[in-house]
Amino acid sequence: MSPALDLSNGVSASLSNGHSLPHTNGLHTNGGSHPLKSKPTPPTDGFSTLAIHTGSHPDPSTGAVIPPISLSTTFAQSSPGVHLGFEYSRSDNPNRRALEELLASIEVGGKEGLGFASGSAATGVVVQALGGARVVEREGRDGERVRDVEVPHVLSVNDVYGGTYRYLKRVASEGQGLEVTLLDIENATEEDIRAAIRPNTKLIWLESPTNPTLKTLPIPLIARIAREPLPGSTSVPILLGADLVLHSLTKYVNGHSDVVMGGVIAPDPSSHPAPQSLVGRNPEARQEQAKKFYEKLRFLQNATGAIPSPYDCWLAQRGAKTLGLRMKAHGVNGLKVAKVLEAHPLVQKVIYPGLPSNPGYKQAWANLSSHARRWIEEEVVPLSSKSTASSATSSYAPTPLSPPSPISSMDSLPASSTYSPSPLDPSSSSPADRANPPTGGFPFSGMVSFSLSSYDAAVAFLQKSRLFTLAESLGGVESLAEHPASMTHGGIPRVSAPF
Ligand code: PLP
Repeated sequence: MSPALDLSNGVSASLSNGHSLPHTNGLHTNGGSHPLKSKPTPPTDGFSTLAIHTGSHPDPSTGAVIPPISLSTTFAQSSPGVHLGFEYSRSDNPNRRALEELLASIEVGGKEGLGFASGSAATGVVVQALGGARVVEREGRDGERVRDVEVPHVLSVNDVYGGTYRYLKRVASEGQGLEVTLLDIENATEEDIRAAIRPNTKLIWLESPTNPTLKTLPIPLIARIAREPLPGSTSVPILLGADLVLHSLTKYVNGHSDVVMGGVIAPDPSSHPAPQSLVGRNPEARQEQAKKFYEKLRFLQNATGAIPSPYDCWLAQRGAKTLGLRMKAHGVNGLKVAKVLEAHPLVQKVIYPGLPSNPGYKQAWANLSSHARRWIEEEVVPLSSKSTASSATSSYAPTPLSPPSPISSMDSLPASSTYSPSPLDPSSSSPADRANPPTGGFPFSGMVSFSLSSYDAAVAFLQKSRLFTLAESLGGVESLAEHPASMTHGGIPRVSAPF
């Protein structure tokens, strides 16, 4: 997911803990303001506790433990503008609000959540929020006033998801007139990244890990570069302090392949620094800037109508309750599958960021949330070494990594012990902790990419698999397999040409 700066790191869909603070936005066209959201759970709750309880309270009118699905499109008002917090379902409805609270709560550093009809709709709204061409005045060589047309520039990674590539090329670039650069960020030096940023760069769009080549990107480095003052920048670009996380909730968060939905989470601006050149040293101005951008997104959510249905919100919220458990199982199984494939003579190459042979191995470890790293160090690695030791002395060969017990340290870790005020800051956990991945590999989500000798071999493999269904998507409880070059990523040219 990442996008704006996609800070969804490591196990991107396993999100993280965070804080959902009260907000008002007053943007809804139907007259009322968005009521205050209260933080329903104390900050010491762990990931799964937040995922289960945030936005999910017994219904006060009936006592139903699971909140009902509220299908009503409109809500009664006792006098014009006087209502119980909801007016019209596109602007807000109980199920979407509950899901949005949940999203803000489980993303580390998250403050505000927004639900969209799909991950692609969320992409569209974020890019639309950059605006279009505008006239800017600058001083010419002889001191005269010169008028220029400036269009927003987007910098992204060169193996961006196929649908995002299509949106950036066909809609943002060809339709909206935006400038777009796709950079091989994984192999770029710091200088290369700096050189790709222009005075009119408004957005750095990262996906980490990328789909399907699972490149893990140096998010803290890019965040640091993005926060430096840009010469000549006159606008308020996202990368100057209004970072966002974008998820296709269609994938791991819902997790059951029965909902298409997207989510955007805005961080607490007080913990996300913007360059002083833009807003001075005044933290209130910085917060105001971030708040304005978030309000623009909520405005566009309503104005474009790119909203998810109450039923889908309800399903996604139910799915998220088991996200913590599922991500552990996905990771443990993904590592096993990757190891088996790597040892197979017919497999030419395996891409799994948690394999020691992967070039992004250290970066993937560094990108993991600190609670995921703690879980691996405290539960997965000890189990793995125990099983390796016992297999050496007995004829019974246990699997190299047994699934962790359902009640694990990841659930019981208090959010406050893992929450860092600045998740962008690479020093948010000790450098040694981030620098040293376990030697035998580690669980890194459930996606594995691999190459066989030819296209025909790949097709034969896909047609013969018994449990893996040949279908697009990922992140559901069932196992899927696909051939990206001819399916999800068919629209991307072999070598990405500049737009
Ligand atoms: N971004 C990435 C990295 C994806 O893999 C996908 C879908 O596969 C999307 C965005 C689009 O999400 P959605 O299908 O919910 O529109």
